[in-house]
Amino acid sequence: MTSALRLSGLSYRHPDSAQPVLTDVGLDLAEGRMTAVVGPSGSGKSTLLRLVAGLTRPDTGDVRVGDRSVLGLPPERRGMTMMFQKPHLFPHLDVLDNVAFAGRVAGRPRREAREAARRYLTLVHLGELASRRTRALSGGQEQRVALARALAAEPEVLLLDEPFSALDTELRSAMHRLLIEVRAALEPTLLMVTHDMAEAALADEVAVLVEGRLAQVGPVEELYSAPASVAVARVVGGFSEIGGVLTPAGHVSALGTLPCGAATVTPAATLLLRQETVGITHGTDPSATAVGTVVGTTRVGARQVVEVSVSHPRLPTAVVRAEVPLGTATRIGECVGLVVAPDAWCVPAAPAAGLAETADG
Ligand code: ADP
Ligand code: MG
Repeated sequence: MTSALRLSGLSYRHPDSAQPVLTDVGLDLAEGRMTAVVGPSGSGKSTLLRLVAGLTRPDTGDVRVGDRSVLGLPPERRGMTMMFQKPHLFPHLDVLDNVAFAGRVAGRPRREAREAARRYLTLVHLGELASRRTRALSGGQEQRVALARALAAEPEVLLLDEPFSALDTELRSAMHRLLIEVRAALEPTLLMVTHDMAEAALADEVAVLVEGRLAQVGPVEELYSAPASVAVARVVGGFSEIGGVLTPAGHVSALGTLPCGAATVTPAATLLLRQETVGITHGTDPSATAVGTVVGTTRVGARQVVEVSVSHPRLPTAVVRAEVPLGTATRIGECVGLVVAPDAWCVPAAPAAGLAETADG
């Protein structure tokens, strides 16, 4: 049932807009693989899924399922199903017939479609709700039914556009566990749009879309350890951006000279520090990498993120975020030492606002 999905050179511009929404997007998903597409709001993620599904026609490029191009085919003949944030269930049908609907559309006899629907309902742990009216379902149950219906169509490729983003944290984690089970049982080829990095981590690979172009494609660990640009680091989240220059000795900034891995050969470089790799110590600790002033603190669950500003007579002020246990003494204005783990990462400096166009000619 599952097939490879290959996107190549996909570009798209709205007829009434000067800016392209997507430029030369290519992605390769082998059979049974899952890729998550992440990116800022408006970066073109939903448009990309619509092009793949056949709801919008690209200006250039190709969409291939298995060994055939599906570009000339209408959505219902592309071997794909798409699941959205809203479940779009039929209110006049019970749960079982909602799921069986997919099989009926595919031309299967009612009895056979209902038998298959029962299996998919069991897979999403809703077997006992088969005869329930959809009105009587909770939001999480509705999304499970929608997932069962998408699977019941037995697509070669499953497309998911932020399918769980309307659910609360607990239901969302339950859906994540379910998605893992579904992958193990059916091995569908899966392309999923999300803005949640925890959700993206369910995928084999993550594709970062920035202003309609793929900025990086790789396993989620790579996005955390070696983001290709400041833009990618912002999508991933949790990085401090430290402006400076790259020298043979390391990255030079208000924090001093720090050794770093580098994705850049340009001298102007941004050092990216992950907040969970930075520690805090007292301001007179000789082992501190740098000394600064606490300028902010935010509680994040059982941890807190402390913002420390480090100034320098000649170099730009650096603001470093450190994720530390709750209760770490930090008053605004307090002088603290920063302990930076020696695995920082450097990327080309983001172009200063307004300079980008001139630099590009
Ligand atoms: P995402 O899903 O990443 O938030 P979308 O794919 O929905 O992004 O939208 C991508 C871009 O296309 C946005 O910048 C949006 O403003 C633009 N856009 C969407 N619909 C239209 C339209 N009908 N005309 C012009 N631009 C549009
Ligand atoms: Mg969208």
